[in-house]
Amino acid sequence: MDAELSANRPLVGHDWAVAHLIDVATPDPGPEPPVWSRLRHAYLLTGARHIGRSTLAGQLAGALLCREPTGTACGACADCISFTGGNHPDFLLVDPTTTDGEPDRDGGVLRAEQADAILHFTVMKPFQSRFRVVLIRELQRATPAFANHLLKTFEEPPAATLLLATATDTSTILPTLVSRCQTLKLRPSSRATLRTALQTRWEAEPERADLLSRLAQGRMGWAVLQLEDARMWQRRNRNRALATDLAASSIPERLAQADALAVHSSPAQLQEQVGFWLWWWRDVWLIQHNLADSCVNVDCEDELESLAARVRAADVTAFLQRLERAIQQMRANVNGRLVMTSLMIHMPMAA
Ligand SMILES: [Zn+2]
Repeated sequence: MDAELSANRPLVGHDWAVAHLIDVATPDPGPEPPVWSRLRHAYLLTGARHIGRSTLAGQLAGALLCREPTGTACGACADCISFTGGNHPDFLLVDPTTTDGEPDRDGGVLRAEQADAILHFTVMKPFQSRFRVVLIRELQRATPAFANHLLKTFEEPPAATLLLATATDTSTILPTLVSRCQTLKLRPSSRATLRTALQTRWEAEPERADLLSRLAQGRMGWAVLQLEDARMWQRRNRNRALATDLAASSIPERLAQADALAVHSSPAQLQEQVGFWLWWWRDVWLIQHNLADSCVNVDCEDELESLAARVRAADVTAFLQRLERAIQQMRANVNGRLVMTSLMIHMPMAA
């Protein structure tokens, strides 16, 4: 089963989106069998990875698959149990895959044969619930063939079919596909919301909760992953060590590192790396401008202060602009190696 998909996994923040989806998942008062007049046939949830898109989609799917049509999943009926267990016959999860057919949300793509599987799934009537629900994740990774095969289904899905999709952003998705969905844009949650939730719901120590809420950039799922998966935290600490090393490295050393990163990282990992640098160098900039209280990497104070003293403030400002541009370029699928090479050349050099 997928931990993000459960009939009643807690979702932190996004109150307006939660309220809206509970409303549309609640049947009209009166008629039997129930009627869902406010429910659209397709929803697209957009926002950064780990912000809560799948969890929210799972809540809507769970509510509509549940035996009790009340707007939220009861969590206890046979439908809720099989949905949470990952084997509900009226639910289809479609993730990008590698060429070997392995799910890979970062490096895989959505393929034509997966679109065919969706078409096949939606022509059949619901087996045990009132709806058939399809969740397509990372729609921005759709091949043109995938998108074209599904255009008609998104325009006019068969009765009792709900199409859900998530995407990091809509700029690379076929506009005719986007226009057929109701789009809900999830925004980062506040630091205080994250910190409180980490302490109360996940029982994190206050200090850890504070650090993670600063680093998470508003993404609850990211903070929870750090708590639950030690490898994620190790990766963050590797990024931090690399950032310190690179500032003191020569240009040839940096270019060798850019090559190594480009070869061994998926596009999403490269984006994460650049995202980390943005926050790292922003902290350096804040210290140089006597604004250290606003730093996010509060556990690296000594490293950051030492760096801030050894690089020129003007170089840091210029590099921050480059990092922001690099993130835009990577979202637009500009070659990762080119972007990394340019960043390595312009990264401030520690004296
Ligand atoms: Zn239920």
